[in-house]
Amino acid sequence: MRKVGAVAAAVAGLALVAGCGSHVSPTERAGIPRDAGPGASPAGAPTPNAADVAAQWAKWGLKPLPPAPPAPARPAIALKAKGPVPVFSSVPTKDRVVFVTLDDGNEKDPEFLQMLADLRVPVSMFLTDAAIRDNYGYFRTLQSSGATVQNHTVDHPQLPLLGYEGQRRELCDDQKTLEREYGTRPTLLRPPYGEWNSLTQQAAAACGIRGIVLWRASFQIHDFQYDDPEKKFRPGDVLLAHFRGPKELKGETLTEMFAHLLKVVRRQGFAVARLEDYVRTP
Ligand SMILES: [Zn+2]
Repeated sequence: MRKVGAVAAAVAGLALVAGCGSHVSPTERAGIPRDAGPGASPAGAPTPNAADVAAQWAKWGLKPLPPAPPAPARPAIALKAKGPVPVFSSVPTKDRVVFVTLDDGNEKDPEFLQMLADLRVPVSMFLTDAAIRDNYGYFRTLQSSGATVQNHTVDHPQLPLLGYEGQRRELCDDQKTLEREYGTRPTLLRPPYGEWNSLTQQAAAACGIRGIVLWRASFQIHDFQYDDPEKKFRPGDVLLAHFRGPKELKGETLTEMFAHLLKVVRRQGFAVARLEDYVRTP
């Protein structure tokens, strides 16, 4: 995970080398995602790579985001192995970063696989087994582009309507499936609809989940709904979007939605960092 984070930071760093990312003219050399990915040198990289990064973004009608800073040496939130499971919707940091989370998993637009491979934006996927079990492989491909896998229950219930045992099953069974399919045991839970109670915290702990993540702004089709009355991001905000397609997005595709999202992040001058780089388990 850390390695992928470093690569993402490196890619973003390359964009900076090319001139703050905002005035890079796209070159004709599109279609070279790997050059700017693993193996790219993080500092003092030759200009062509920066141009390659800009070209990858230009393919999607986008300009590169500002570079994410290196992952902090000390996590902003250090999750504990034992004790109460904390609930948070933002991460205390001065870094001008936000965290992108994608929930559920209903829409599996093949174009989005290419988009994430090209852009390497770090996203945390909170996956519901009922939504993904017809195609686990789709999310494995996203994982190979640096996306991380976290828990969003088996059947997407309103957890507080269930007793402890019902909640425990929803969480633990999703853990088991995600670990089997993706080779990594989630440490974070996004409770469906953002609804949780103290039993959720107890059930999470019983299933090896160490943090419950809510959000400060949620993306619809073209813009966010903000908790902040000023309708602006603050450093460390967790952003929520979904794997949705034309049916839910009034005809727009997942890639169009994600492009809109990135434009809003860029307009506000934020970088996207990896949530798991700022929120770590012991
Ligand atoms: Zn959901």
